[in-house]
Amino acid sequence: MDKKNIIEFKNLHTYFYTDKGVVRAVNGVSFAIPEGKTVAVVGESGSGKSVTALSLMGLVAKPQGKIVDGEILMDGQDITKFSKEKMREIRGRDLSMIFQEPMTSLNPSLRIGFQLEEIFHRILGLSKEESKKKSLELLEMVEIPNPKEKIRAFPHELSGGQKQRVMIAMALASKPKVLIADEPTTALDVTIQAEVLDLMKRLQQETGTSILLITHDLGVVAEMADEVVVMYGGRVVEKNDVFGIFDNPEHPYTQGLLKARPTLENRDQKLYNIPGNVPNPMDLGEECPFANRCTYVMDICRKQVPEEIVRDEDHRVSCFLYKEGLDGKSSIKS
Ligand code: SF4
Repeated sequence: MDKKNIIEFKNLHTYFYTDKGVVRAVNGVSFAIPEGKTVAVVGESGSGKSVTALSLMGLVAKPQGKIVDGEILMDGQDITKFSKEKMREIRGRDLSMIFQEPMTSLNPSLRIGFQLEEIFHRILGLSKEESKKKSLELLEMVEIPNPKEKIRAFPHELSGGQKQRVMIAMALASKPKVLIADEPTTALDVTIQAEVLDLMKRLQQETGTSILLITHDLGVVAEMADEVVVMYGGRVVEKNDVFGIFDNPEHPYTQGLLKARPTLENRDQKLYNIPGNVPNPMDLGEECPFANRCTYVMDICRKQVPEEIVRDEDHRVSCFLYKEGLDGKSSIKS
């Protein structure tokens, strides 16, 4: 059955114009978010994953930041062409974002009940009475203990995990089409992290929301994602369903990321580190962005940016190792 895509990034380029030069943070990114699915975007800091999410939200910092090329289609309409007012409307209703740090979304001086009621009353137009009722229901839904009491609390009176739950409740209040979660559990300890991920999964099943999950944590990816997009140097280097990424990673960078993660098998060994550093996004030239760190680098990799190669229905990889006539596939997995 055909997947219906709720969001499609098409050749997106988002640049920042600074005194020191042009930062090409997102440099030709294309992928889709299917309805009701979770797409995880993984990569190190500076890979362009968070700027991709901010581009979708219409929150790229102006005046330095700008979408210079490409489209972001939502239900077939290019939202990069929408006015500020229209984007604000969409952000409140169709697109919601949760951050690593809940206090980015919560106002410390307002009771959480008031902050939730504002969404129902102001954005969704419900009466004050209905908004109160819905806010309480939402706190119950995200399993905040003693919701009748907690609805009157200020954010600082809640634990880290509870604040995260309130932020998720606020993000889901409008039943958005897409929930964008940028490193949503990084600041939490492992037990709370597992609870918050479970909560997100359960709410997704109940509401049918699609999730764009931005993370560097492959454990979170394995837990949550249906599809995975691996970014490096502002580009997508590999995309596949979650099983394909873990069982058959083809791009040398994806292979390196998997090798660098802690597992039961390597728990007694020193963890692998991909050699070298991420490229400076001001110095990206006409070459493979991974060339300086890649064990398999060839002459052609220094002269051209590899195009996306279709490996099978869901699997795409941007690497000359898989170009016909140059196929020197090998693996650094073992
Ligand atoms: Fe390595 Fe070349 Fe593939 Fe880039 S294109 S990942 S440098 S083999």
